[in-house]
Amino acid sequence: MSIVISVAYFKKGNCHCVDRGQHIWCPPGIRPHEDPGPRSLGSVHVYGVSIMYNRSNVFYKILQNEVSAKKAYEDDQTLAFYDVNPVCRVHVLVIPKALYVDFHDFVSKALPEDVGSFFSTVAKVAMLLGLEESGYRIISNIGKDSRQEVPHFHVHILGGEPLRASLA
Ligand code: AMP
Repeated sequence: MSIVISVAYFKKGNCHCVDRGQHIWCPPGIRPHEDPGPRSLGSVHVYGVSIMYNRSNVFYKILQNEVSAKKAYEDDQTLAFYDVNPVCRVHVLVIPKALYVDFHDFVSKALPEDVGSFFSTVAKVAMLLGLEESGYRIISNIGKDSRQEVPHFHVHILGGEPLRASLA
């Protein structure tokens, strides 16, 4: 859980927050655990990484029902849908409905129980897809070097056939 221990205003309206011992820069009025949203001009730094959620990404639009997706599972916190460009027979993406850029952003800001709950749901979705016995792979791309395309945290579930060793 993010706890703002002290807040002091710093150059041009940005605030300087201390979150769990980490010094974090964030826009005025935004706590480190909050999504800065479209009004954000700056970025939130968590553990030295610059992270800013961008609502123009396609998964946000799927969550807003502005873009359609073939749903595999949905509950209050989570949505799973089929990848539009599958790399194997069963390729499903699982996303939290809360707004996180990537895995790192998610585990840095979400409550531990929400992190645990999310990964339990990933396992549940894999089971609902019938992959439990045959096995499957989960992948989460994080940032530039991983070639993450969509900056809303997601986990790929890959399965339904023997997977290539290099598939990632
Ligand atoms: P990543 O490289 O981990 O960010 O993967 C993003 C994934 O999202 C890719 O596998 C895309 O094929 C998939 N994707 C992009 N747009 C859509 C969409 N509208 N519906 C379903 N999957 C999508």
